[in-house]
Amino acid sequence: GTIVAITTLQSRLFFPMGQLLNVNVEIQSSLALFDRIFEYLDLERDIVDRDGAIELRRDEVRGRVQLDDVWFRYERPATSEWVPEGAGSQDRLWTIAGVDFTVEPGQLVALVGPSGAGKTTLTYLIPRLYDVNRGRVLIDGMDVRDIRLESLGEIIGMVTQETYLFNASVRTNLLYGDPDASDEQLEAAARAAHIYDRIMEMPDGFDTVVGERGYKMSGGEKQRLAIARVILKNPNVLILDEATSALDTHSERLVQRALDPLMHGRTTIAIAHRLSTILSADTILYLDRGRILERGSHSELLARGGAYAALYHEQFSDGRVETRCEDGLVLATGEVVTEEAV
Ligand code: ATP
Repeated sequence: GTIVAITTLQSRLFFPMGQLLNVNVEIQSSLALFDRIFEYLDLERDIVDRDGAIELRRDEVRGRVQLDDVWFRYERPATSEWVPEGAGSQDRLWTIAGVDFTVEPGQLVALVGPSGAGKTTLTYLIPRLYDVNRGRVLIDGMDVRDIRLESLGEIIGMVTQETYLFNASVRTNLLYGDPDASDEQLEAAARAAHIYDRIMEMPDGFDTVVGERGYKMSGGEKQRLAIARVILKNPNVLILDEATSALDTHSERLVQRALDPLMHGRTTIAIAHRLSTILSADTILYLDRGRILERGSHSELLARGGAYAALYHEQFSDGRVETRCEDGLVLATGEVVTEEAV
């Protein structure tokens, strides 16, 4: 009887002792992990508020965006070549080289150009994801470096190619646009972005968890959620990087329909891959190696027969009208455009 009792007690004792010893291993590995987390937290921020930076009230912003002789490069050059002296052999070092343009409130500007021309980089300079090396980016005539970053974040909304969704419910993901939004506002934004019906088809509606990076949703659905998020945010200036990833004609049309109300009457700078965006732009800027080579409306640039015309013929005009749908004509590229546009 004693032997049985001792053996039983022993095994009961060994098990928790083993667990206790493991705690030390867990603490050590957590410490290593914390080191890496703190390393990130301790990183010094390159872009911070200036002393005396001001807060802009969103309802007072008109949304005029101006780039004034903007130069930018990613890598930090030696100080002697830091300030560009103008055109010359150094030009190729610059990702953005002497760009000048103005977008009036409510206008749509389309950026087009070959891959690596600097279109995405240019849009990063407006919300100060990077600071210009020379020149100025102005919103309503005010240098963005004089505006508080928080304010700037409220004024500018971005729809990027890669939609970032958190592994949380649809509702939580949408509330990133406006944490105070009511259920009615959420629903209205989802309807405007043509994603409401799809959300309601999901098992838990707005409470459905979208999965890590939204893997449970299709590319088009993720984009429409991102658009609903920006509709909720209601920014004064919209930066739109149209996805190049091929969506089927139906998704493409839904995304296009979602974008229309978002862009309407709002200052928009779009990296345009869709013909319909290019055609409705007030100004098209053709960018190559960080410089604006051509600027004007679609018809002006086509008539000029330069780089834009070549790009247009290469990318779009091969896509002659394929078929018709309720919204207009469907091109071979998947674009849906009105008859007049063609
Ligand atoms: P695409 O249409 O292919 O997206 P893009 O016109 O948007 O091209 P950018 O992404 O702005 O071009 O890139 C412009 C140049 O800057 C490219 O040569 C690219 O390699 C470089 N570049 C982009 N991001 C970085 C970075 N974080 N660090 C260093 N160089 C970069």
